[in-house]
Amino acid sequence: MKPGALARELARIVGQEGVLWRAEDLMLYEYDALSSLRQPDAVVFPRTTEQVVQIAKLATRENLPVVPRGAGTGLSGGAVASEGGILVGFSRMKEILEIDIESQRARVQPGVVNLDLSLAVSDQGYYFAPDPSSQKACTIGGNVAENAGGPHTLAYGVTTNHVLGLEVVLPGGEVIHTGAKSWDRPGYDLTGLVVGSEGTLGIVTEITVRLSRKPEAAKTLLAVYDRVLDATRTVVAITARGITPAALEMMDGFTLRAVEQATHAGYPMDCAAVLLIEVEGMREAAEEQASEIEAVCNENHARAVRRARTDEERDLLWKGRRTDEERDLLWKGRKNAFGAVGRISPSYYVQDGVIPRTRLPEMLEFIGEVEKRYDLRIGNIFHAGDGNLHPLIMFDARDQGQSQRVLKAAQEIITKCVEMGGSITGEHGVGIEKIELMPLVFSPDDLDLMRRIKEVFNPQGRLNPGKLLPAGRMCGELRVQVSTGGER
Ligand SMILES: Cc1cc2nc3c(=O)[nH]c(=O)nc-3n(C[C@H](O)[C@H](O)[C@H](O)COP(=O)(O)OP(=O)(O)OC[C@H]3O[C@@H](n4cnc5c(N)ncnc54)[C@H](O)[C@@H]3O)c2cc1C
Repeated sequence: MKPGALARELARIVGQEGVLWRAEDLMLYEYDALSSLRQPDAVVFPRTTEQVVQIAKLATRENLPVVPRGAGTGLSGGAVASEGGILVGFSRMKEILEIDIESQRARVQPGVVNLDLSLAVSDQGYYFAPDPSSQKACTIGGNVAENAGGPHTLAYGVTTNHVLGLEVVLPGGEVIHTGAKSWDRPGYDLTGLVVGSEGTLGIVTEITVRLSRKPEAAKTLLAVYDRVLDATRTVVAITARGITPAALEMMDGFTLRAVEQATHAGYPMDCAAVLLIEVEGMREAAEEQASEIEAVCNENHARAVRRARTDEERDLLWKGRRTDEERDLLWKGRKNAFGAVGRISPSYYVQDGVIPRTRLPEMLEFIGEVEKRYDLRIGNIFHAGDGNLHPLIMFDARDQGQSQRVLKAAQEIITKCVEMGGSITGEHGVGIEKIELMPLVFSPDDLDLMRRIKEVFNPQGRLNPGKLLPAGRMCGELRVQVSTGGER
């Protein structure tokens, strides 16, 4: 179908103002936060489930791929139309449909921005717990598709732990409803299956989520270290004592200095690493845990342990999880870290892997070796409490040699994660980037079962093709175009 004719058909469904098809408009949709790959044939912005159904039916009739897209902040290429077709953007489906405080539930359209839901219920003492660092931009539909995590995953789990039900449009236009407001429903857990399926099983058009009660008190600590190893040992020691902080994040000195220059949050410029630790709960319990954690930090040679004493000081440590005026836990430095690194390097590649947290000290040493061997600069930001690593590999994409070294270094780090008993992604998903790495963590039988499940939902494979599941034999390499803008 010619682009103009496709645009006319789509405009019949959503109106002219809801369709983009000219090359200059499509340029904005040829990449997400990973890479620049390919333009869709058209982008369409539905407002209702019925319009999504009509779009799915049109795509079936014309045998076109369909790719759902939230805010495009995904870091594994999932929202890129790598085989062309129709990109379905959810920026007009952004209504909070229902807030039911008594049941601690909300029902939202997929284009609602993550932080907006927390802001909408904040005055009533609630928030939406999944808090990816991108939460000011990313959508709840995207969070569902990626099963997103964030700094508070350690205590509160990932998106799937907060999603109770979904409305999903299948590629043929059928509408299914999974789950409900209550937890325990008979039958297969289709909600659990769709969460994390990266837009390959269905198009999510409505989400019922759990709202969480804001804790009575929160204590935020900043532990400063002269040796990275001491910081990683503290992480292991805290959890070994049976303490589960709400968040336990680590930044190395290099990253920290970039962050400080960008945000002026008051971080020490001369240290090797910091841990940002938060405990939440009843006032007395939070206080007791904070003191216990402070002791563990000191035992592991922290140079200093700072507590955010005033609301202003907390504001400087935290950003992105605005809950109320008085307790404004906004983790400014950490949540702006990727952007801060973008100021000091022409390009960078964010790796995302996960390991058992007890192996963190060893892993940090390994990343240091990789850095030297490939003559690259690697900054480290970790959701340390749950063993989720984000090495940031800096380079200049104009230098082909460097770009190749980046890929090899990233590949070595991710392979090491698997060898240590971890996995190829902690939270950013598989998308295009890691599709060839799936056989590292799944057997042929595992993958075969997943393919058969996908065929039930998406029999022609037109929904988000080329993502998540490898089609056949794979060569086990990262698929990133670091030389053509595959960096952030
Ligand atoms: C600076 C930065 C920080 C980040 N921090 C974190 C973090 O802390 N934790 C984390 O988990 N991730 C993080 N991410 C990655 C990203 O923000 C998350 O994966 C987020 O959930 C993506 O949401 P989105 O709306 O941008 O989705 P998109 O990027 O638009 O899409 C992501 C995937 O979801 C699918 N999708 C989108 N909407 C739908 C729908 N309605 N139905 C079906 N499929 C759909 C797409 O097809 C695609 O496969 C970060 C990214 C950036 C740039």
